[in-house]
Amino acid sequence: MLEKHMNDKPIEKLAIIGGGSAGWMTAAALSNALGKSVDITLIESEAIGTVGVGEATIPPIRQFNERLGISEGDFLRATQGSFKLGIEFAGWTKEGETYFHPFGHYGADFDVHVPFHHYWLADQLTEQKAGPLDDFSICYAASKAGRFSHPNRDPRQIQSRLDYAYHFDATLYAQYLRAYSEKRGVTRIEGRVDNVRLHPETGYILGADLSEGQTIDADFFIDCTGFIAVLIEKAMKTGYEDWSEWLPCNRAVAIPCESTGDILPYTRSTCRKAGWQWRIPLQHRTGNGYVYCDAFTTPEEAETTLRDTLDGAPMAEAKHLRFVTGRRKKFWNKNCVAIGLSAGFMEPLESTSLHLIQSGIMRLLTLFPSRNISPLLAEEYNKVTTEEYERIRDFLVLHYIANEREEPFWKKMAALDISETLQFKIDHFQENGLISLDARELFGKPSWLAVMVGQGLTPKRAPGLSSRADIRGIPVAQRFEQVKNAIRSATDAMPTHSQAIQAMMKAR
Ligand SMILES: Cc1cc2nc3c(=O)[nH]c(=O)nc-3n(C[C@H](O)[C@H](O)[C@H](O)COP(=O)(O)OP(=O)(O)OC[C@H]3O[C@@H](n4cnc5c(N)ncnc54)[C@H](O)[C@@H]3O)c2cc1C
Repeated sequence: MLEKHMNDKPIEKLAIIGGGSAGWMTAAALSNALGKSVDITLIESEAIGTVGVGEATIPPIRQFNERLGISEGDFLRATQGSFKLGIEFAGWTKEGETYFHPFGHYGADFDVHVPFHHYWLADQLTEQKAGPLDDFSICYAASKAGRFSHPNRDPRQIQSRLDYAYHFDATLYAQYLRAYSEKRGVTRIEGRVDNVRLHPETGYILGADLSEGQTIDADFFIDCTGFIAVLIEKAMKTGYEDWSEWLPCNRAVAIPCESTGDILPYTRSTCRKAGWQWRIPLQHRTGNGYVYCDAFTTPEEAETTLRDTLDGAPMAEAKHLRFVTGRRKKFWNKNCVAIGLSAGFMEPLESTSLHLIQSGIMRLLTLFPSRNISPLLAEEYNKVTTEEYERIRDFLVLHYIANEREEPFWKKMAALDISETLQFKIDHFQENGLISLDARELFGKPSWLAVMVGQGLTPKRAPGLSSRADIRGIPVAQRFEQVKNAIRSATDAMPTHSQAIQAMMKAR
């Protein structure tokens, strides 16, 4: 054993194949963390191009940028980015009804023993005087007022309950990260991999041959080639777990359009006949797309629906995309890790794909192997990543199953046979008003609450300790009013979203 470790050499050469968001996020993070100790090469093909979508994120993206030392002002300037405080879901219960999934927390923790939302649920089941859940979200209030400010770190301030992410131009982000990575020693090669050489006995990747004649050898390979998965699937035949039974949308059409009016600080997701439509407001344009299931509409009809509902004039041709939701059976196979669309895909309903890239990179850095790759590293990586994917899948399915819409696609979604893990969560909430989370859950209780309540799920009883009428001498009803007033005055004092973007871009 000791001898084996003594012969164990560090990885010297690492190849990233693919230069979309996944490839360049990986190159940036690895070159930043590993420095010049590892020789990193990235191969990408302009002729193949990137998927060209993927512009809405969730709050952990900020930690990714921070780790790379990228300032917010630089980032917003380089990517035409905007702030995102949550997602509005229009028509997801029935036509005309809307709910909001805000980032951050609801209300204020006025009782150390009982979370705020337990009191709110108790009120809903009794007097119903508190008002809608949205009234207790500072992110919702700011979104609707078109305002933004950064969270305040003082937990006594209501602004501490705010959290945020970004919308940004994915192509510009990849360009920015390319410059960042090249400055840190990453070599970029323009070319198309058309042959992957595997070791005849072990199946490990030995090298990748480019159609231009060049050969790339490395100790370790990262497959960032998108849906085509050139290394992990085409060459290594790792296998794919198809999740169409839960997430049957399999196509999308995207058209950017001119911005009209103010840049809103939230994403909107609107139900359509066979799926849903996103609207992502950036500084220089608005991103739009219709994600749908082709068993219920045609690409032509989907494109017409999208065109007819754009806020402004289209700025490019429609881009049609096909996909199969699911995940690679192994994300890490031998000396190859798949990151990005090559690892799997779930529809972008909660903007999780870029996050899965980020968490994949961070996990790889934690488990970074030597040349004698311990199979336990891959096992751990695959186990944790699978859990992460499955919990996100459950959260996405939750958005569909309680809908009351009449269209055949939506009726099918309401009748889905859901996973046991999701069923448990729903049962627990409906029976006891409690939200049960796994240790590695990406979305926290406020997110689950927003979607459960938004989709119309109601508990039979409020959680145990939430029936107190007053807390330290102040009636709960009065506490509710205090919170609402605090949210109102904090929101009124915020700059508009555009002012906040401009101020951040000017800041050095
Ligand atoms: C409709 C849709 C909407 C989405 N919206 C969101 C969203 O709002 N938020 C979010 O987080 N995510 C979203 N995503 C996901 C997001 O777009 C991707 O996770 C992200 O762009 C990463 O893609 P990628 O880099 O893995 O793949 P790609 O962008 O496809 O890049 C693949 C790269 O590999 C290269 N390549 C391929 N084959 C070869 C080869 N043989 N040789 C050399 N190079 C090769 C290509 O040239 C390219 O550089 C969305 C996805 C879709 C389909």
